[in-house]
Amino acid sequence: MKITILGSGTSCGVPQIGCPCEVCTSTNPKDKRLRCSSLLEIYGKRILIDCSPDFREQMLRIDFKPLDAVLITHEHYDHVGGLDDLRPYSIFGDVDVYAEKFCADHLMERIPYCFTPKDKRYPGVPAINLIEIEPHVPFVIKDVEREPMASEYLEDAIKMKRQQIWEELQRIREREGDICRKDVVIMPIRVMHGNLPIVGFRIENFAYITDMKTIPDTELPLLQGIDYLIVNGLRHTSHPSHQTIEEAIAFARQQGVRETWLVHMSHHIRPHAVEEQSLPPGVHLAYDNEVIEF
Ligand SMILES: [Zn+2]
Ligand SMILES: [Zn+2]
Ligand SMILES: [Zn+2]
Repeated sequence: MKITILGSGTSCGVPQIGCPCEVCTSTNPKDKRLRCSSLLEIYGKRILIDCSPDFREQMLRIDFKPLDAVLITHEHYDHVGGLDDLRPYSIFGDVDVYAEKFCADHLMERIPYCFTPKDKRYPGVPAINLIEIEPHVPFVIKDVEREPMASEYLEDAIKMKRQQIWEELQRIREREGDICRKDVVIMPIRVMHGNLPIVGFRIENFAYITDMKTIPDTELPLLQGIDYLIVNGLRHTSHPSHQTIEEAIAFARQQGVRETWLVHMSHHIRPHAVEEQSLPPGVHLAYDNEVIEF
C-alpha cells in the first residue's frame, strides 16, 4: 500500500490567513498544511479519501490517472469542498464517490448539479456516481478488468464473517491465488466528531480516521489487527470535536498500532521540526506530499 498525504492541515489550513505566529510564518515546507486528504494506492487502484477545497492544487502535484473511488468521511466543507474539481477525472468515466446517507443528502442539497443522471447532464459538469455506504457494512472496489467471479468470493466473506473479514479474506486469497488480489475491500467504521456521527475507513491492516473526538466501544473489534493508522490530532489543548495530539497517541497505543501518522493539525502545535522530536516512537506528524509505503 502506498499513501500520499495530500493535506495534513485543519479546516482553515496552515498558514492560517493573517496569522503572524511562528508556525504560520515558518519557511519549512513541512509546516505548510493544506486541508485534510490522502491518496491511497493498493492493488493497482487509486482511492482518494476526502476531497478538500485544496484538491485542485493537491492533484496538480500528482500524476493524472483515473481515480477508482473517492471515500468521504463527512460533509464538512474542509472534506468535500473540492468535489466540483473532480471534473477533469470525468474523462476516464463517472467518478464513484462513497458517502453515508446523511452526508450524501447534504451533498445533493449543496451541489446537486454534480450528481445529475447521464441523460440530463449539462455539458462540463462533474460526472459523479454517489454511492451510499453504511458503517460496519464493508464494500468492494471491484477490479473491472477481470471476470466477476472473485467478487463473489469477497461478497461471501463479507456476509459470513463481518468482524473477522480480514482473516477470511486472507484465507480466500491464499486459496484462490491471484483471483481476488485486485479487489479492494473497505470497512466503514463509526466515529464521533463531537456529537456528529461520521465514518473512518479500514482497508486491510490500515485505518484512516479523521475528525474523531471519540469512538464507541462497539467499533473497536473492527480495528483489531491494524498495524498502520492515520488519525487526527488537532493541537495540545482540548477541543469539543477533535482529539488532541495526546488523545490521538493514547488511541493509537490502545489499538496496538505499529506506526501512526497524525493529520488535521492546526497552527497551535509547534513547528514540525520541534513537535516531531517530542513524539513517542512509532508516532509521526504527517506532512503534505509525504509518501508512506508499507
Ligand atoms: Zn475537518
Ligand atoms: Zn498561526
Ligand atoms: Zn469536520
